Amino acid sequence: MTMPTTKERRLKELIEGAENIVFFGGAGVSTESGIPDFRSDYTQTRTFEDFGLSPETILSADFFYSDPTTFYRYVKDMLYRPEAVPGPAHKALARLEEEGKLSAVVTQNIDGLHQKAGSSQVLELHGTLATYTCVDCGRGYAGAEVMAQLENGADLPECACGGLLKPDVVLYQEGLPEAALMGAAVAITEADLLIVAGTSLMVQPAASLVSLYEGEDLVIINKTPTPLDDVATLVIHGSVGKVLAAAVLRPLPGGSDRPRSR
Ligand code: NAD
Ligand code: ZN
Repeated sequence: MTMPTTKERRLKELIEGAENIVFFGGAGVSTESGIPDFRSDYTQTRTFEDFGLSPETILSADFFYSDPTTFYRYVKDMLYRPEAVPGPAHKALARLEEEGKLSAVVTQNIDGLHQKAGSSQVLELHGTLATYTCVDCGRGYAGAEVMAQLENGADLPECACGGLLKPDVVLYQEGLPEAALMGAAVAITEADLLIVAGTSLMVQPAASLVSLYEGEDLVIINKTPTPLDDVATLVIHGSVGKVLAAAVLRPLPGGSDRPRSR
């Protein structure tokens, strides 16, 4: 087993000392589950090669309404990952909630993996791909039902009324859902430890929520630098799954950790 670094020990101490942890995450939390993030060369290159456009263009409201067929081809090829399972980061956060230490996961992800891992307090700032709504009559559909239409050969999924179905995700040009935004603002304001991970902090207004945090310690775990590295108490440039698993799921070797009950 590799020995923990000083930073990993510090993170474990901060988590142990906190009573109201909030986690703020992005696409990097799910890359270890095989879902690529938007900044990755893979997504950028493949989107340009296969579609001649950027992911940001295709996932905009204008594009959805002007070319829903291409939009859905993109969802099917690049976003829909029914085989994805929660990774160590999702599991560690579910454990912290179960232990009563974590009050909310605020996520920019649309993949539902936190809920699959067992987290119940999940605030989805950018909505979810798990459900769809008809733009004409408002009827709701499960994602699997909609994707089955595409897999059975339809270019475009349809409501029973013939209307266009839209995934319940926030597209570029659209506002964030009020309830998730308010919930996230309250949770972050009340937190005594904020852990920001797997996000470039480049997508607004989600990223600006972090500035509402009033606690002492801000932790950032990200593979690449973020605009808030300078103000964080602890910055770990590494894999969020490995780092959180080491801090939460396993006792550190040579430490004074009590064995966990499970
Ligand atoms: P992003 O793509 O802008 O940034 C991801 C960040 O995570 C990068 O800085 C990268 O260095 C880091 N990263 C990648 N893998 C990591 C790992 N294993 N450990 C630690 N860090 C890692 O993501 P974002 O800031 O969340 O914003 C992009 C937008 O794309 C969001 O609006 C989000 O809704 C959407 N998105 C969602 C999913 C998903 O639901 N899984 C996937 C791709 C994009
Ligand atoms: Zn309808």
